[in-house]
Amino acid sequence: MRIGFGYDVHRLVAGRALILGGVNIPYELGLLGHSDADVLVHAVMDALLGAAGLGDIGKHFPDADEKYRGISSMKLLAEVKKLLAERGFLVNNIDATIVAEKPKLAPYILEMQENISLCLGVEKDLVNVKATTTEGLGFAGTGQGIACNAVCTVFKVTSD
Ligand code: MG
Repeated sequence: MRIGFGYDVHRLVAGRALILGGVNIPYELGLLGHSDADVLVHAVMDALLGAAGLGDIGKHFPDADEKYRGISSMKLLAEVKKLLAERGFLVNNIDATIVAEKPKLAPYILEMQENISLCLGVEKDLVNVKATTTEGLGFAGTGQGIACNAVCTVFKVTSD
């Protein structure tokens, strides 16, 4: 069993959609980024790549590359799943915590978990997503951005 950790932050700005775990969440601000800036999926991808010893998302999907402009991060997650599978790694479980003052994310958590588990082809109960605030403190607390922490475990399928 191997463990991985991922962390990501994106700035909240006007004129962008707020997409978390592949869910388009109604809010007056959205996350700024080269892709759809899905901070949850980015943290999950970094955790998975880390667990497999495959570097980070910047290495595999550079933000200077025009082909990733505006891309759904769920598509990138599917690519990460492939990278792991090619090396014999299967996802054991994922646990992530989104750090956001607003909006309230509880109504969307189940759909985020479903989107991620479906994309990775794992049982729903292997993907856990949580959300917390920082009680008004720091960049997340003032609403300047949203952060996400994620951990995962993966195991290697052996042929013998
Ligand atoms: Mg990111």
